[in-house]
Amino acid sequence: MRIPKILGRSGNDRRLARGAEESALHAGGDPVFRIRGLTKTYGSGLTEVRALAGVDLDLYEGELIVLLGPSGSGKTTFLNNIGGLDVPTSGELRYRQLDLAAAGEDRLTQYRRISVGFVFQFYNLIPSLTARENVALITEIARDAMPAEAALEMVNLGARLDHFPAQLSGGEQQRVAIARAIAKRPEVLLCDEPTGALDVQTGIVVLEAIERVNRELGTLTVIITHNAVMADMADRVIRFSDGRVQSSHQNAQRALPSSLKW
Ligand code: ADP
Ligand code: MG
Repeated sequence: MRIPKILGRSGNDRRLARGAEESALHAGGDPVFRIRGLTKTYGSGLTEVRALAGVDLDLYEGELIVLLGPSGSGKTTFLNNIGGLDVPTSGELRYRQLDLAAAGEDRLTQYRRISVGFVFQFYNLIPSLTARENVALITEIARDAMPAEAALEMVNLGARLDHFPAQLSGGEQQRVAIARAIAKRPEVLLCDEPTGALDVQTGIVVLEAIERVNRELGTLTVIITHNAVMADMADRVIRFSDGRVQSSHQNAQRALPSSLKW
């Protein structure tokens, strides 16, 4: 994995250098996702909705991407397509050597199981299982998974292993959901409005957990939000409008989630 290898330095040096090194990486490296002319149309005739109207993007190993755009601009549709939850109507959608636009259901299931972690606005934890058991559900069927305890430690919940969801705050439940998503060490972490149901302070702690996963595991991470404040924590900010990429902007450096001004 390339990102951890180049991050030999520590602390602020590493943060400052990251943008430049990322650009240098992109010049030579193959993208994780190659997306060209991607469209997705729902329904037909009078009820037809064009959710994606021709998206062109390359997404690279280890990037932390914040995806912004108004409600209805196609963000969730895009995430579901690159996550193998939905298939495009037309266009090119490649994950490394895998053609996601042409893959059958079995191959998509395998792709989701091995390569993708999802985090949604609502945590979808099983109420009758503890934090540890919710994460272990996944680690038991994945290969090369980290122990559930290690995944929960990574999101700062090492002291809450045996709590049930009802005994945890919203932010803590979301961090269990993040631990569950990353315990199998997916190459890609897709987060759809992960702080949408949380207050500001709690949201920041959740973003800190996502940022740490991205930095320490080198997981290509996409965070959907309609909160433009979060743009500063990204390596790259992509804006959607009417089912298209309106802009893609590389930040010179990443801001810590705790420094974001809400
Ligand atoms: P965003 O996440 O940016 O709010 P979405 O990707 O959810 O946008 O939706 C983009 C457009 O596609 C919207 O007009 C939405 O109503 C429509 N849409 C999304 N999913 C479906 C679906 N399953 N069936 C029909 N229309 C859909
Ligand atoms: Mg959405």
